[in-house]
Amino acid sequence: MARVDCLTTVFVEDIPEQLDDGVLYVSRQCHVALHNCACGCGEEVSTPLVPTEYDLVMEDEGASIWPSIGNHDFPCGSHYIVKRGRIHWAGKMSREQIEAGRAYDRLLKRGAQPKGLRAILAWIKRLWIKFIG
Ligand SMILES: [Zn+2]
Repeated sequence: MARVDCLTTVFVEDIPEQLDDGVLYVSRQCHVALHNCACGCGEEVSTPLVPTEYDLVMEDEGASIWPSIGNHDFPCGSHYIVKRGRIHWAGKMSREQIEAGRAYDRLLKRGAQPKGLRAILAWIKRLWIKFIG
């Protein structure tokens, strides 16, 4: 198991039992993408491809996933951005950054937002971009 710096995208119908390092498995049917944590720890990272979770865009060079992948629940705590098939290491997030990200997620998942909430959302997003890029 070694750290990888890029992910090769493979489109699958069913997610295989065993994932290879450095491969991003995308199942459009299941609305999910999976890969082994890029740090090489062997943990499986699942990114649901639904509007409130992750967005995957295929480009010539490879897949881009947004937002960043924060494996805060794994011992490695790795955090990175997948852009055009390459891993951009983002460094560990502080507890405050993780909470800001989760708060942002929660707001997004609530769906319809009154005006005031929209402003808060924009503010959190600015913070998010400032810290994470
Ligand atoms: Zn890891």
